[in-house]
Amino acid sequence: MSKATREDIEALRHTMREFGRNEIRPRVKDMELSGEFPRDIYRQLGELGAYGTMLPEEMGGSDMGFEALAVVAEELAYAYPPLSAGMNLQAATVPLTVWNWGTQDQIDRYVRQLISAEILGCNAMSEPDGGTDFLGAMRTVAVRDGDDYVISGTKMWITNANVADVALVYAKTDPKAKHKGVSAFLVPTDTPGFEARRVKCRVLGGLMPTNGLTFTDMRVPASSMLGAEGEGFKIAMTAMDYGRLTVAARSLGLARACLDAAVEYADLRTAFGEKIGSFQMIKHQIADMAVEVAAATELVYKAARLYDEGTIGTRESSIAKYYVGEVCNRAAQATAEIFGGYAFSDELPISIYLNFAKLWQTGEGSANLQRILIADDALGWKRMDRHQQAARPRHA
Ligand SMILES: Cc1cc2nc3c(=O)[nH]c(=O)nc-3n(C[C@H](O)[C@H](O)[C@H](O)COP(=O)(O)OP(=O)(O)OC[C@H]3O[C@@H](n4cnc5c(N)ncnc54)[C@H](O)[C@@H]3O)c2cc1C
Repeated sequence: MSKATREDIEALRHTMREFGRNEIRPRVKDMELSGEFPRDIYRQLGELGAYGTMLPEEMGGSDMGFEALAVVAEELAYAYPPLSAGMNLQAATVPLTVWNWGTQDQIDRYVRQLISAEILGCNAMSEPDGGTDFLGAMRTVAVRDGDDYVISGTKMWITNANVADVALVYAKTDPKAKHKGVSAFLVPTDTPGFEARRVKCRVLGGLMPTNGLTFTDMRVPASSMLGAEGEGFKIAMTAMDYGRLTVAARSLGLARACLDAAVEYADLRTAFGEKIGSFQMIKHQIADMAVEVAAATELVYKAARLYDEGTIGTRESSIAKYYVGEVCNRAAQATAEIFGGYAFSDELPISIYLNFAKLWQTGEGSANLQRILIADDALGWKRMDRHQQAARPRHA
């Protein structure tokens, strides 16, 4: 249950908006030029409490809940999408998964340090052979050897892995079993056998590094397993519940950034002696964006408030993730059109907006996957029922 009042949420939104306006936007050009990972921004956000809304005060969090987390995600994406991509790792996917499933020792070692951004985390699930069907495509194995597991395999597209201190790694402990054959591990990235190679992605800019990982006979103590053997799929699904909603909130922030950029430009740029915003076709595009952003806002915060009432609304998160992803892509396309040739200028963020709109439609369960889940639910073939949040901490 969230302890945050309406005033708390609005104060947080104000803080995040000011941080984006004063600390992120003015530095984007220099940061992109230098290409250096902006660890200082992560630290500043950790100190501001941006990553701790889902954790209780005794862990260094604020217990403000999911609506607050969605506000952070939305405002950081509004400021500059690449810098918001890692927030999910610091605030939800890694620390919350450890909090929900970890032993007291794992909680003590990682949770407080992750939400303050003293250490950085990454989530190593996808592999070269597939992300949507990660279970079928998973070739990484963890073989028990005395008091250790030996992990071998490769991962693909792992955000922040080259700068992270700890990786949440999924591997098959029983390659023949399906769902129950996967286990999760918390692996310090300086473990011998852990290698991260940055994948060059010019279209995403330089501030969100993504990596291929190789695990070569990587020996980890059995105590680094998160949850019990065979619980990895269940763990991944609870992490995905949070991930879907934060990516929906980030897509909302990006759609708002597109709308504001389009409005500003349409009021500034002239053609045929008139502001381009006075042309009816441009007005239609702006009106559609404004309406869709308003509808998307309702879906994101409806799902977030359900979490804050203690219920995981898988259906609501899935619907929000799918719809906001579509809205964001339409908004990015329309904005690029309104900017004409200037959409391709490196001086402006429009091409980054286009690429991140598409990226977030794919990550945390692609648009097609969400449609399959939503249709199966509507048909009554596979219901996405609401369920209670995991009791925590489970293994303390
Ligand atoms: C920049 C970047 C950062 C990322 N960060 C991370 C990270 O930190 N950690 C991590 O684990 N992963 C990460 N990913 C991976 C991401 O989660 C996957 O790319 C995503 O899950 C899709 O998997 P895929 O690329 O293998 O596509 P595929 O699964 O091969 O899908 C290709 C297409 O087929 C469609 N498709 C697949 N199955 C079906 C079906 N049954 N019916 C209809 N259509 C279907 C998909 O919707 C998609 O359109 C990242 C990816 C990128 C590009």
